Amino acid sequence: MLAIFHNLLLTRKLLTLNIICERYKMAVPKRRQSKSRSRKRRSHDALTAPVYTSCTNCGSLSRPHSVCSACGTYKGVQILKVKEKKK
Ligand SMILES: [Zn+2]
Repeated sequence: MLAIFHNLLLTRKLLTLNIICERYKMAVPKRRQSKSRSRKRRSHDALTAPVYTSCTNCGSLSRPHSVCSACGTYKGVQILKVKEKKK
């Protein structure tokens, strides 16, 4: 009895999917996807934190190989004119 209940819990997702598919005349998956298959697919989904380097001119954090957003310089050369903040 417990095994049947457990099996029902396992296939519940697929059953609800089948009901939705029948309603909208969609293709129905034959078997539920294994944990291994789902986890293999999601192995590439991890996010990485963005890298920041300190600006050589003003010291504020900015993305590498890009113009500093705080002072507008790149490798010590002024690239952009930065507006001063109004007080
Ligand atoms: Zn800077």
